[in-house]
Amino acid sequence: MKILVEDIPETGLTLDLSADGKDIEALSAGKLDFSFITPVSAHLNLTKADRNVYIAGDINTRVRASCSRCLKEFVHDVRADFSVFYVSGKEAGREVELRAADMDIQYFEGPELDTNEILLAQLALEMPMQELCKEDCLGLCPRCGADLNLGTCKCTSETKVDARFAKLKDFKVK
Ligand SMILES: [Zn+2]
Ligand SMILES: [Zn+2]
Repeated sequence: MKILVEDIPETGLTLDLSADGKDIEALSAGKLDFSFITPVSAHLNLTKADRNVYIAGDINTRVRASCSRCLKEFVHDVRADFSVFYVSGKEAGREVELRAADMDIQYFEGPELDTNEILLAQLALEMPMQELCKEDCLGLCPRCGADLNLGTCKCTSETKVDARFAKLKDFKVK
């Protein structure tokens, strides 16, 4: 949904959105390493400040991602509250002043804001750099590829020896 900044009333604009995950994926140009299971629902409050727009809102969706340690796919609920200041490209020179307000800042060009772009930017911020199926995921054995969450593999004892060698190597370097 495109919003003409000019059309945002002085009293602000409240939006309840349900965006199709496919549209957001298409915008991301393949940069998202998860896929949407449900639509992205969001509640946005937009307030105009000159040509810039302050947005406070929340976002809710469910995604499927794969664990960066064990490669297993898992489902992850994403819920986030956010506030961000959308600065019109024409006012980018005021960046320093705005940063001092300690607020997330995004820039936009032209007269419109695209709600899918807003949601994509917030999701990209919200998702961890490394997806984990659980905090203490043990990952895969680097030798045989066994999932160590399911138990130890035959080469576990050798892996321990390797770890000791690795420490010895570090010591020599110092
Ligand atoms: Zn895992
Ligand atoms: Zn192994």
